[in-house]
Amino acid sequence: MSTGWRIEVDTDRCIGSGSCVGMAPAHFRMESGLAAPVSATVEENEAVIDAAESCPVEAIAVRDDDGTVIAPS
Ligand code: SF4
Repeated sequence: MSTGWRIEVDTDRCIGSGSCVGMAPAHFRMESGLAAPVSATVEENEAVIDAAESCPVEAIAVRDDDGTVIAPS
């Protein structure tokens, strides 16, 4: 059984565009100008995929419970 997905934001890459917060406000927030996951683990959902795909610098990684990167593709 899946335990959900993990979200990571690489704050060395994040340029603070805010796209992820706009796409998935339930899952990302801004902290001192950089994005952070609201929760490190989430239920599987399309919004976090869309947010990871929308990041202009691919700073977001969404992983399944095996650690495989699901997004960005
Ligand atoms: S979309 Fe990417 S660059 Fe923009 S705030 Fe989110 S993590 Fe940072």
